[in-house]
Amino acid sequence: MKLVKHIANLGYGSRKEVQWMFREGRITDADGEVLYADDQVAHEAIRVDSEPLDPPAGLLLMLNKPVGYTCSTKDKGRIVYDLLPSRFRLRAPLLSTVGRLDRDTSGLLLMTDDGALLHRIVSPKTHLPKRYEATLAQDLRGDEAALFASGTLMLESEDTPLKPATLEVQDARHASLVLTEGRYHQVRRMFAAAGNHVDALHRSAVGGLTLGDLESGAWRIVDASELPLLL
Ligand code: URA
Repeated sequence: MKLVKHIANLGYGSRKEVQWMFREGRITDADGEVLYADDQVAHEAIRVDSEPLDPPAGLLLMLNKPVGYTCSTKDKGRIVYDLLPSRFRLRAPLLSTVGRLDRDTSGLLLMTDDGALLHRIVSPKTHLPKRYEATLAQDLRGDEAALFASGTLMLESEDTPLKPATLEVQDARHASLVLTEGRYHQVRRMFAAAGNHVDALHRSAVGGLTLGDLESGAWRIVDASELPLLL
């Protein structure tokens, strides 16, 4: 494929814009040598503004989602795509969020164009643990860990019980909850079923992947070497 088309398909700009990026010397090889649109160069050797090109397929991003952003593309308010460079919105196929976090939930959100990977991470069959840190409106009663671990808890308007979940209490109003499924507003509804209310919710881990020092609102590409953490 021609370089201009290849780079445009990755969302870096329209073909016309990418032509100009070549003219401006923004597209180079790994040694910083300016490339021309008719050069023959492998994907891995190309740099845009000194950065390696995004992978053409199988892109996986991690975002530290702030409160106030929705995972929808249609919402009229703030959406998680607003936090990413425009090239991630322009590439086809578009990146999808791997599951969703509520507008009021912060933390680790994965986004990918890899449908099989997405399916594997969200599927309850995979049993991939997702860890949430909850701040509660009222003191814990003391029976929540047993209730959540029981595998018998039914949420309102559902007809199958929740899978056992692990609660770790930090103090009367702070606890971590590890789930292996992802039902609608699950954490908030679980605490509601235990007579409490979640004031703040943050996802700190998906599988073995954590946010590390990624700041709120920041994103990074998840490297292929980290994928075993999601198995
Ligand atoms: N559970 C919730 O209640 N909200 C989320 O965003 C994720 C899990």
